[in-house]
Amino acid sequence: MLDFQMVVGGQDRAAENGEWIESTNPFTGRPWARIPRGTRADANAAVEAAAAAMEDPAWIALSASQRGALLRKVGDLILANAERLADLEVQDNGKLKAEMLGQLRYLPQHYYYFGGLADKVEGAVIPSDKTGMFVHTVHEPLGVVVAITPWNSPLLLTTWKLAPALAAGNAVVIKPSEHASVSMVEFVKLFHEAGFPPGVVNVVTGYGNECGVALVEHPKVAKVAFTGGDAGGRAVYQSAAKSLKHVTLELGGKSPNIICEDADIEQAVKGAVSGIFAATGQTCMAGSRLLVHEAIHDRFVESLRRFVSAAKMGDPMADDTQIGPVATLPQFEKVLSYVDIAQGEGATLAHGGRAYSGPGCEEGWFIEPTILTNVDNSMRVAREEIFGPVLSVIRFEDDDEAIRIANDTPYGLAAGVWTNDLSRAFCYTRALKTGTIWVNAYRVVSYAVPFGGYKQSGIGRENGQEMIKEYLQTKSVYFNLEKEVPNPFVLR
Ligand code: NAD
Repeated sequence: MLDFQMVVGGQDRAAENGEWIESTNPFTGRPWARIPRGTRADANAAVEAAAAAMEDPAWIALSASQRGALLRKVGDLILANAERLADLEVQDNGKLKAEMLGQLRYLPQHYYYFGGLADKVEGAVIPSDKTGMFVHTVHEPLGVVVAITPWNSPLLLTTWKLAPALAAGNAVVIKPSEHASVSMVEFVKLFHEAGFPPGVVNVVTGYGNECGVALVEHPKVAKVAFTGGDAGGRAVYQSAAKSLKHVTLELGGKSPNIICEDADIEQAVKGAVSGIFAATGQTCMAGSRLLVHEAIHDRFVESLRRFVSAAKMGDPMADDTQIGPVATLPQFEKVLSYVDIAQGEGATLAHGGRAYSGPGCEEGWFIEPTILTNVDNSMRVAREEIFGPVLSVIRFEDDDEAIRIANDTPYGLAAGVWTNDLSRAFCYTRALKTGTIWVNAYRVVSYAVPFGGYKQSGIGRENGQEMIKEYLQTKSVYFNLEKEVPNPFVLR
């Protein structure tokens, strides 16, 4: 059993009351590490450390170019530590080493990109109607930013917030998931090694309803950037409203992956698999509703079944494993309960649907990749986010029906469309109400491309050039060029 500490003001910190949370390895079902169970006092200390950093010349007097150089340095350090950090993530959340290492090796690009952007945010000289004034704008950091993140891709999703927030000159307090905090406390140390002053990047571990709430309520916090489930997102939004904080929310989805009858079936099968069985379905952008044209429905489902039957389940650390365990015991139970719910509502279990304990998987929380057919879009499996390896297959007759079904959801995070007809694909890209659409692809993201939700999948965007503005505020400066101040009782 390994013990890890929080990082506040550049120092290791245990929980104020000395309590711990055990982190359990989903592959073995056994605790492997402990993280501090942070309290309100710990949250307050972290916000105070960040607020002090926002007064510290060692941080605020740096030029934007110097901040960019620090970010590029941290990118290099992440690359050098990618293997070690990926191992920690896999032990915490049970996702494939191949996936976590791929994310870690890609992470530096975010810091290079936003490091490069740091000194390219320019204000404007405004040729205003106030001719006696020299008017210009400057963009200034918001102050203390709280980043609250889930367990499925801890370092990647934190980076989506951290890189632009630091490029803009803010100080950050990170609250990672109670299920996967270990990689984060080690990760944050790289920022200090790169030369970020103490207090600029802090991490508090613990439960959302304890230290998480305390961070959101703290009056010195200017912005909360949250990624997680609907319930947490709504709670954070309400709580942040009390003190009118800036908020971005990256929430869940029930994304449609649409297979037209003219699609390349072999490629579309791979697209369907990457949409739902990669990452064991534990991804916000999971293509959990597979809409298949009725002309190819049976053939497609059979091809999918064959592909999935050959997928290797096992140790997420092993190179040849394709499907790992789900991350937590409650999640394991929740996913299996949806298989019963679906069948109770009339869906057909076409593949999987049970816990799996084959060779090497005896102790972990494994679930067979599950395909449900005869799903109607009104069923709970088609409406609620399951966050596991459960695919609901829905038939459609024509494009209008596919678009109607695809949009009939409170969510709007992502969608996939598989067709060889370009004009048809283009119509789908305009008609679907989602933040991201892939044509003949699925589950592709980039630091340079905005990502976020329509409808109840979230508020705001992450990644891309515009994102840095989410962490800045604009100040307008009127410089009077005239000696005489005119009538003071009249608005000029
Ligand atoms: P969660 O909402 O349970 O927890 C996310 C984080 O919020 C955790 O750190 C948790 O401690 C904290 N939290 C929860 N309630 C809080 C509160 N009231 N105040 C402050 N903090 C609180 O989500 P999870 O189970 O860790 O992650 C899975 C969810 O995340 C899924 O719904 C998934 O779709 C979503 N997600 C979204 C994206 C995206 O970019 N849109 C990416 C990944 C995951």
